[in-house]
Amino acid sequence: MRKGPSETLIRATCQTCGDVELLVGDVQVLLCATTNEGTYAFRCPTCGLAVSKPADGRTIDVLIAAGVELLVWDLPAELDEHHAGPPISYDDLIDFHFLLESGAAEAAITNFRSERAAHPANGRRWGRARR
Ligand SMILES: [Zn+2]
Repeated sequence: MRKGPSETLIRATCQTCGDVELLVGDVQVLLCATTNEGTYAFRCPTCGLAVSKPADGRTIDVLIAAGVELLVWDLPAELDEHHAGPPISYDDLIDFHFLLESGAAEAAITNFRSERAAHPANGRRWGRARR
């Protein structure tokens, strides 16, 4: 009797446990449509860790032919956004925390939005003195 796809064993390596055997349903192939880079992923049956490994085109073809599920995904559109101004710092977070505690948060957010709209490059000032 011929083995069905669900009975096909896939040998993979867990960085903690070494070689492990998986069923087709235990593995997923993830293909990024933007970069055309592929990985395969599984949860180690021994230690339970999630494992993800890069996969070249041939490996992806073999896994898909064996019946492994293929998931195609795109890089998030946020990566194409232009970001102006310095990154948010811990001081900014602390300032924002104090604003929330003071009850003036709603006014501060409104001010922040109008300043940001008027001066997008330096719109992170909420009216509190910088340290
Ligand atoms: Zn493991």
